[in-house]
Amino acid sequence: MPKYILTIGLEVHAQLNTRSKMFCACPAEYGEEPNTLTCPTCLGLPGALPVLNEGAIERTILTGLMLGCSIPPVVKWDRKNYFYPDMPKNYQISQFDLPLCLGGGVPLYELAYPKDAQKSIANPGKVVKLTRIHLEEDVAKSTHHEKFTTIDFNRAGTPLMEIVSEPDIDSAEEAFAYLSSLRQILIYGGVSDADMEKGNMRCDVNISVRPEGQTELGAKVELKNLNSMSAVRRSIKYETERQIDCLNRGEKIIQSTRRWDDDLGETTLMRTKEDAHDYRYFPDPDLLPVRTAEILERVRPQVPELPHEKRDRFERDYAVSAYDASVLSSDKALAAWFETATAAQPTVPGKKIANWVINDLLGLMNEGSLSIADCPITPAALADLVATVESGKISNNQAKEVFAEMFKSGRPAAEIIKEKGFEQVSDTGALEAMVEEILAANPDKVAEVQAGNDKAMNWFTGQVMKLSKGKANPKLVTEIVKAKVAG
Ligand code: ZN
Ligand code: MN
Repeated sequence: MPKYILTIGLEVHAQLNTRSKMFCACPAEYGEEPNTLTCPTCLGLPGALPVLNEGAIERTILTGLMLGCSIPPVVKWDRKNYFYPDMPKNYQISQFDLPLCLGGGVPLYELAYPKDAQKSIANPGKVVKLTRIHLEEDVAKSTHHEKFTTIDFNRAGTPLMEIVSEPDIDSAEEAFAYLSSLRQILIYGGVSDADMEKGNMRCDVNISVRPEGQTELGAKVELKNLNSMSAVRRSIKYETERQIDCLNRGEKIIQSTRRWDDDLGETTLMRTKEDAHDYRYFPDPDLLPVRTAEILERVRPQVPELPHEKRDRFERDYAVSAYDASVLSSDKALAAWFETATAAQPTVPGKKIANWVINDLLGLMNEGSLSIADCPITPAALADLVATVESGKISNNQAKEVFAEMFKSGRPAAEIIKEKGFEQVSDTGALEAMVEEILAANPDKVAEVQAGNDKAMNWFTGQVMKLSKGKANPKLVTEIVKAKVAG
């Protein structure tokens, strides 16, 4: 059997988070009563004219700048003609030959890969090339019932960005990483909520398989409207196997569109694919072309620090490991939370706060499926706890107990420490008296310490801790023992 090469390209539709729709003033909102957010324009009534939403153009250009695309000086809008009940004017306003963004790429962040694939990344540091990003209007939402279909026009005309990749993705894992990296960047830029489960990001997958040694790509099979990242990964795996089986049996792959059934875990044929010219694109006579220079200048300063830039800065400024920096920068809100905490206690090393966030906080957050916005502990409260441990006032084990209680109740560390009686004795006079008592009772151990035995040293600290019922400040005790033994 020959070996096969897999080639994948993705088309992602992302809803922009503008307040109004793409070509009218209707609110771009979700969850309202069906067909309440409509007007003659977004219902597609004859004679209604479109007016461009500048905010949508700005967000698309911002996306292009974040992804390193070039922005053509003039862009225009075209009619993509097709008949479908969710598009009653029988064309979708989209962009054909002069889209808002060309080229660019999506960097595949390590943590964006599926968890079980992060240890075996085939192409570390890969950037998936983009073809283009264009702006268009969404269509209405059809809901199929047993004997009829209902249509909700609240979604019709909302701004939709279509991000088209080159056939530059080599595996199901890379497709997964592409989507989660892209999602991270769209959220960083504040242009889209980019939540596939909520339908604000939808994905079509183009897959082709060819025998090793053949340069020309195999026939393209398109999987439509996948609505979760795991569906993308599983459907690619299934479809690759299916196509390889076909080829091994000597069958030909036909260019076609297939539907993924997430419950059955398989694809079924929908139709053989139309070519682009079937859509009879032509320039929309109701909309003028747009010069981008002025908008570009306005948007350029809005480009945020991107996840990989933040990761590099965290590594540098807080002396955290590359892995920890990636975890902290993987979510914009988490990164901001971490930085607020470090700013609250500037004398505490950022690394110490990072450890608590990654090892303790994220663990409990994941257990409760909480996002950082719902975190019961404020950044300042965690920083305060870490500062208390660092000063030696409470031990690490005590701090863990305090932390668990803070997470449960949202109360401040100081209150819980007092209640639990964790406040350590840092009164030097009291500690010196205890140390002297134990030294006097154990002359043999004193000799061992003087001989440089660290174990004996720890033994003394342990004895004082016991005598103080765990309340002595261990750092201070060790210092006093050292001083007394030497003196
Ligand atoms: Zn409208
Ligand atoms: Mn589209």
